[in-house]
Amino acid sequence: MTGSSAVGSAPTPASGRRSSEGFRLGNEILAFRFVATLGERRADPVERIGTPEQLRAWLIANELGSADMPASESLLRDARALREAIHRAGTAIASGGVPDPADEELLNRWTARHRARLVLTGGRARWHLPETDSARAALAVVALDAVATLGGHGDGVIKRCEQHTCGGLFVDTSRGRRRRWCSMATCGNKVKKANLKAARDGTEPGLTDG
Ligand SMILES: [Zn+2]
Repeated sequence: MTGSSAVGSAPTPASGRRSSEGFRLGNEILAFRFVATLGERRADPVERIGTPEQLRAWLIANELGSADMPASESLLRDARALREAIHRAGTAIASGGVPDPADEELLNRWTARHRARLVLTGGRARWHLPETDSARAALAVVALDAVATLGGHGDGVIKRCEQHTCGGLFVDTSRGRRRRWCSMATCGNKVKKANLKAARDGTEPGLTDG
């Protein structure tokens, strides 16, 4: 499998690994980029979708929204509940378990709402959202990606990021399955810097990267 998503959505947004709003977009998997909207999960969590407007901005940054898309507090609540179900289910699978049935049911309720169409335009696949309730249709795309990824539709192994404050998820498709961080550009760099500093200070290296 190549591309950003187990269900074949558009490639990783061209806006780079970190958007102007501070979203972390370096993860290849759409559903796990959504999980990363709550950062530093194992330290002081950083909420990057604190308002309906921020949720809409995240959807736009991931080519799943537009500026005129309605966004409400109840949508935000539902979005965060979806996000946390993906995180719990992914964490369970990463540690060799199975997701809680309640989380599976929540994900399945979302995929039942899937109404977006995948269309080919200029050689690129894009999600075309329905006009009514487009934000929930966009979240259903995220849920579909989560189910396909967690259920093993793509190649690779689901892992939890080893950067000690992160708690994010990723799919390791590397040869030998040696990847350790959700994103090299963020967590990978952080660990590398910490190890360099530890080496320079003569302290024990490697303590920060699990
Ligand atoms: Zn990470």
